[in-house]
Amino acid sequence: MRLSQLAFKPLKEAPSDADTKNHQLLVQAGYVRQLMAGVYTYTPLGLRVLDKIRNIIRQEMNSLGAQEVLMPMLHPKQNWLQTGGWDNIDVLFKIVSRTKKEYALGQSHEEVVTPLAKEVILSYRDLPLALYQIHWKFRDELRAKSGILRGKEFEMKDMYSWHETQENFEMFFNQVKSSYIQAFKKVGLIAKVTEASGGSFSQKISYEFMVLTDAGEDDIFYCDNCDYCVNKEIAQVKEGDTCPKCQGSKLQLARASEVGNVFDLGQKYTKDFDLTYMDDEGTKHYPIMGCYGWGTTRTMGVIVEKYNDEKGIMWPQSVAPFDAILINVNLDPSQAEEIYQSLSKQGIEVLWDDRDNESAGSKFADADLLGIPYRLVISNKTGSKVEIKKRTEKEVKLVELGLVKDAIAI
Ligand code: ATP
Ligand code: MG
Repeated sequence: MRLSQLAFKPLKEAPSDADTKNHQLLVQAGYVRQLMAGVYTYTPLGLRVLDKIRNIIRQEMNSLGAQEVLMPMLHPKQNWLQTGGWDNIDVLFKIVSRTKKEYALGQSHEEVVTPLAKEVILSYRDLPLALYQIHWKFRDELRAKSGILRGKEFEMKDMYSWHETQENFEMFFNQVKSSYIQAFKKVGLIAKVTEASGGSFSQKISYEFMVLTDAGEDDIFYCDNCDYCVNKEIAQVKEGDTCPKCQGSKLQLARASEVGNVFDLGQKYTKDFDLTYMDDEGTKHYPIMGCYGWGTTRTMGVIVEKYNDEKGIMWPQSVAPFDAILINVNLDPSQAEEIYQSLSKQGIEVLWDDRDNESAGSKFADADLLGIPYRLVISNKTGSKVEIKKRTEKEVKLVELGLVKDAIAI
């Protein structure tokens, strides 16, 4: 892709209203635009990052045997009355039509997915079943701030599963937990798993996936010697206490952002919608249900909070919009074009900064701001070679054009 043709290019100045790094850097580099507090557009560049995150999660959910669906965002009031959510969930956006019919905008999808699953879960042979989607949610959040970390409109991967027995549910629940930890690693995040009480309807166990960052809104106690971690909100322990799990270290207090969570919903929703299955003797039962959320847009923001320096973003390669950014210092444009084509043919995703109205210096600064993992420089000094620099390192090396792909290890 040619940077000269990119619709949203890096800006010289950071936005003045940005209170967090992710807001500041994502807007300045050209990944997002704010429409109003908590509502953002993802530019072509931003969408490339979001797509990489989505696909990493998608792969992981598919490998658990879950199937992807896409459910409506506009929901009938009746479904929300049926679960009590209409009157009890304060973040629920409610809409009145011109004929005075009422609707809800999806803040989560239990109210849609449970009646949907009812159509296909009839007998024990239809269980277990897991469905997921990657879709936008709406929440009337009072404190929509912190850039894309907390939106009124945001994207989530939400998965739901149904099981014959508690045992079968727990097996799947644990598989999802480990799969989340793996997938968070793939996008460059170390997620700590906290034990928390269940959501608004359930006192059952749930786990939150927390990434340490000062831009987060949760306080957690964690042990640096083992994996013990709890949310301060519900904790029986305090800072400096000996770790109750390993007794090997003192608990530390830290700020964190919740990037995902998994809930045991029990039979709450299957009972609300009378979703039953028949066992092999013809008796009806309510399946056990679980739900598994992952904030995709929040994940993008948290990655920026974790991976930045004074010059800009430093995307982990797995989610970077491009593998490399190509800068031509003083070669003939037709020679530069040939090199760009050759790199693209090698299968490298290259953003070519072909702007002729910017100095090499400001192109270098923009390359750092954009945070693309490798900078490739060509000039009349590099000859048949390309000068490669990693965004996170200082050293440069000269590599033959045909060997660039090996050098950047994609
Ligand atoms: P929080 O405590 O941060 O409000 P939550 O407990 O309401 O989160 P869920 O309803 O379980 O979260 O949603 C699943 C995931 O969706 C969260 O773990 C988080 O990553 C993301 N998420 C929730 N609310 C928002 C929001 N307003 N903006 C962006 N992402 C969000
Ligand atoms: Mg919330």
